[in-house]
Amino acid sequence: MLVTLQRIVEGVNKAPDFNMALNTMVGQVREALETDSCSVFIADNEQRQFVMAASDGLRTEDGSSIRVDFGEGIISLAAQREEPLNIADASQHPANKKLVDTNENIYRGLLAAPIIHRRKVLGIVVVHQSVARQFTREEEAFIVTLAAQLAVVIAHADAKGLLMSDHSPWIHSLRGLPGSPGVAIGEAYVSRPEARLDEVTPKRSDKPVHEIRKFRQAVARTRADLKELSRRMAGQVPDDTLAIFDVYQGMLDAASLGDAVENMIKEGWRAQTALKYVVEQFVSQFEALEDSYLKERATDVRDIGQRVLMHLQNRQRQRKLLPDSFILVADEVTASMLAELPQAHIAGIISLNGSSNSHAAIMARSMGIPAVLGIDDIDLHFFSDRQLAVDGYTGEVYIDPPPQVLSQFHQLAEEEQELKDIVSEHSHLPAETQDGQRVSLHLNLGLDVAHDYLQSLNIDGVGLYRSEIPFMMRDQLPTEDEQTEMYQEVLEQFPDRPVVMRTLDVGGDKPLPYFPLQEDNPFLGWRGIRLTLDHPEIFLIQIRAMLRASIGKSNLRILLPMITSTSEVDESSRLIKQAYFEVAEEQGCEVGVNLFQPQLGVMIEVPAAIYQLPAMASKVDFFSVGSNDLTQYLLAVDRNNRRVASLYDAYHPAVLASLDEIARRCEELGKPVSVCGELAGDPGGALLLVAMGYRQLSMNSYNVDRVRWILRNVRSSTLNVMLAKALQARNPEQIRSMIADKMESMGLGGFVRAGK
Ligand code: PEP
Ligand code: MG
Repeated sequence: MLVTLQRIVEGVNKAPDFNMALNTMVGQVREALETDSCSVFIADNEQRQFVMAASDGLRTEDGSSIRVDFGEGIISLAAQREEPLNIADASQHPANKKLVDTNENIYRGLLAAPIIHRRKVLGIVVVHQSVARQFTREEEAFIVTLAAQLAVVIAHADAKGLLMSDHSPWIHSLRGLPGSPGVAIGEAYVSRPEARLDEVTPKRSDKPVHEIRKFRQAVARTRADLKELSRRMAGQVPDDTLAIFDVYQGMLDAASLGDAVENMIKEGWRAQTALKYVVEQFVSQFEALEDSYLKERATDVRDIGQRVLMHLQNRQRQRKLLPDSFILVADEVTASMLAELPQAHIAGIISLNGSSNSHAAIMARSMGIPAVLGIDDIDLHFFSDRQLAVDGYTGEVYIDPPPQVLSQFHQLAEEEQELKDIVSEHSHLPAETQDGQRVSLHLNLGLDVAHDYLQSLNIDGVGLYRSEIPFMMRDQLPTEDEQTEMYQEVLEQFPDRPVVMRTLDVGGDKPLPYFPLQEDNPFLGWRGIRLTLDHPEIFLIQIRAMLRASIGKSNLRILLPMITSTSEVDESSRLIKQAYFEVAEEQGCEVGVNLFQPQLGVMIEVPAAIYQLPAMASKVDFFSVGSNDLTQYLLAVDRNNRRVASLYDAYHPAVLASLDEIARRCEELGKPVSVCGELAGDPGGALLLVAMGYRQLSMNSYNVDRVRWILRNVRSSTLNVMLAKALQARNPEQIRSMIADKMESMGLGGFVRAGK
């Protein structure tokens, strides 16, 4: 039965269109279960009906489509209960409702399973038997498994607008995860890695060593990609399908493509050219084979070749002609992709992968660009030449929206602009509540370190400089001199304000292309300080560069990421001291005159650190709470995993309670504490944090003036009431709606939803 199921599902996935897929499937299921009919009903939420989308056996007299109102019949019962119904004689069942003008009355045995995607019932698959029949447990399991697989197909079909009928003028919309607030309207600009072997112009090279090195690097990156792809697909496709990734890895081995390409390079060809020749030769060999299975392997060879080529061509990628304003759509919006494109033209972002807290979302928020992430693995082609409207508050994306939706979006965008103008008109004022409670606003920096607008920001300093971002955008570790220059650029921009530089925080969701890490649980693995303490040479070079950059200035602060134990603080302090004296001596600095020992801080982002606060307080000068990771580790929810994205929530009562606890403990210990996670720049989050007693918030530039404006419009007494309610709430939804109501009542609703 499993084999049959696999065959059916594969058939559905391969079918050229959705209707054909469903029609073929119902026939195959009817045959497999030896029933008299099999039908699929799909929920039409506008009309509040289940509509028959395909059937083998069930029909109306005049051939029209069958519709069942929500709440009626056994179909609705299966949907309501969200479980399969196995009824030996449906004609006797109280929920039975004879469908008018159909041949359903001839049926008795019934087995129905709801088709559920992300907790939403999309439809029902149902089989009927003309005689009374109790289906077996295996048959039940078969239909439930099939329904689960169908759910993904139907969710995509819905997205693609294929379910639209004359009766049901559904707006084509997709729902992803809200990644960055705001609304945007624009043409889709689909970004995909473009590398075609047939477009490579053959060229010679007299630097074989260099070309081989380039090729090997590209292969290593391709391997890492494949591993990731395979990992993502695991559990979603049968193991034999998954094995294709092993085949791909095998193709990259020296014995397959590797040696052949390197030999051609040694004969004087550039890496791209050698790759092109070797792959094309393999392709034509496979294509010449009789065996149809082996013939197909030609496609795989070409595919893998183009993946390697993509990495080889990384730097020479052609700039496209871009529309003035567009919505960037990509499988995975990356830091480098955002960096490559002109920011002013990006009206919105859609990243098919990722979730609200992946770095793409963090970057989108920092750039003030509305973003939606984690839309199902729908094909990128689908977005080409489409007009899109994106709501970054709800995660909704409208495709080719009808005029009324468009004009609504234009209106909302205008209101958002008005709100932006009000906020920026007040940017020169201090961030303080109406009763005079002053809060220092700091900046989170990473990608965008050298922009004029940073100078014009009214901030008290840099609360978090993510030093790993420039590391991620290079081909190799930057040298000490290069790093010194990078850090100088940052420190010089804010000579009279503190700049908190965090040491390298790679690993987890921030891989370095030239330092590939393959771990089963990267977030629990070799990340942040764990990695750099294991590589003191990397750590020391970075600290030395920071110190050299700080010569003649006194604004450098150093922050350690992912600290779990005091021994990590001790070890880091020791290395920092070593670097300090080395630099002082080498550079002929006068300690305490033109080279200062930087204040040291620790990130509170691993829950264990909360219980180590007293032990660490004597060793450091300040604490900084990384609410992004703290949320992930407290809730045991991977911040980038789409399947559990709805569980990742900094408004979880447990997260808020721990933030409250940290503020209290730091107050008792007399240690300055700030928050530099995303919650600090979130309007509601900032209010709660101030109520808890945090007086330093660090956020992206986009939120600085928004948070200032909000703070200037509240009183501490109101904040205290909000916090008391939040700490008593049972779930994040209660907290969110309490905040939304409060903000709405204070005329600040435009900060938590679209519009003003
Ligand atoms: C955090 O974890 O909250 C944080 C600020 O660090 P990052 O998002 O870079 O992990
Ligand atoms: Mg972190």
